[in-house]
Amino acid sequence: MFTVFKFGGSSIKDVKSIKHITNLIKKYDDCQLVVIFSAMDKVTNMLESVVESYISDKSDPIKYLEKVRIFHNNIIEDLFEKEASVFDEINNLFVEIEWILEEVPCHSYAYYYDQIVSIGELLSTKIMSAYLKDSGFKNNWIDVRDIIRTDNTYRNARVNWDITSELVTRHITHQHSITQGFIGCTSENITTTLGREGSDFSAAIISSCLNVKELVIWKDVPGMMNADPKIFNKATLFSRISFDEAIELAFFGAKVIHPRTIQPLKKNDIPLKIKSFFSPDDEGTLIADGIDTFPKAPSYIVKDQQILISICDKNLSFIVEDHMSKIFSLLALYSVSVNLMQNSAISFSICIDNDKHKIEKLINDLQKYFRVTYNDNLSLYTVRHYTDKDLKELLKGKIVVLEQKSRNTIQVIA
Ligand code: ASP
Ligand code: MG
Repeated sequence: MFTVFKFGGSSIKDVKSIKHITNLIKKYDDCQLVVIFSAMDKVTNMLESVVESYISDKSDPIKYLEKVRIFHNNIIEDLFEKEASVFDEINNLFVEIEWILEEVPCHSYAYYYDQIVSIGELLSTKIMSAYLKDSGFKNNWIDVRDIIRTDNTYRNARVNWDITSELVTRHITHQHSITQGFIGCTSENITTTLGREGSDFSAAIISSCLNVKELVIWKDVPGMMNADPKIFNKATLFSRISFDEAIELAFFGAKVIHPRTIQPLKKNDIPLKIKSFFSPDDEGTLIADGIDTFPKAPSYIVKDQQILISICDKNLSFIVEDHMSKIFSLLALYSVSVNLMQNSAISFSICIDNDKHKIEKLINDLQKYFRVTYNDNLSLYTVRHYTDKDLKELLKGKIVVLEQKSRNTIQVIA
């Protein structure tokens, strides 16, 4: 039975960490293993700058691409002998992007985003596969575009499960496979991506198609915590958490796992472990069905860069179904997901991530039909299993713009 491991960018951010992860993986030589990597370190952000400058036409995208090349070259020069084939393989990936950048853009931003940003994962897996091989860990490099089939919703592609399942089981047969997170491919052979931080989801897709023993997501934190330890200094580790609770936490924006990760695992009853790659012998967090969350503690989730958009009828009449259906069709058009919504008689408010490529267009379109006002630079705070005391502390000194409460969860925009 297979096990799937997923490593994010921070686990392979430099030569030292690559060597550490290689040693970690080598300990599992006896297991049937599929290892999924994200792009190294902050490479996805660097590649986003390439796309940005290519589309905006204000600066030279090649200059940004060079930074990505230098980053990877520095790493491979340290890891491999001069004549290693990985040098050519890495170079070829850059050549493909250069070809794109030489042409005047004629497709959408999202299309180019996927073609360009996806090389981050191709680069990291080429390097990791070659280095693992050199270190004695035999493995088969798989182009995930041969196995994850999606539609063409660029930057947020939807998986075609039937075809993917067939392809995954057909291609993943070796004892050890190395492949990319985050990316997929349409039936026309065009590269797509699954959304930022989507590698967890890729790992869940492959895990569920192979019906694996378990999926382990290796992180730079001890496991799933009740708050981001980088923000809250009193964060505690959950040693066990149920799928249902994990889905809620991921949905509200807990950064440890991508929100789309849990469903395929839950459906196939595949346990998920979140473990620290710094201390691989520690238990971390087990996320599974039919277990009680332990320890019981409130969870705090903060989403920054929020925009609250209030939508009114131009004649200030009541917001009715027709309005709603127009609003939601525009949200669907720009694939914008709503983090919180609230309506009163004459206005409907939505809190969403302030992604400037989508939001400007969305507001423009909404303004054709409605009176629109907005408030940006906000944060959305969610507390699960809150107590009044926790809340008071959390909201100290903040100006609350909107609040929504249920028995288990409170959400505050401030
Ligand atoms: N490399 C992509 C990102 O940084 C996907 C991932 O890391 O999961 O968003
Ligand atoms: Mg990442």
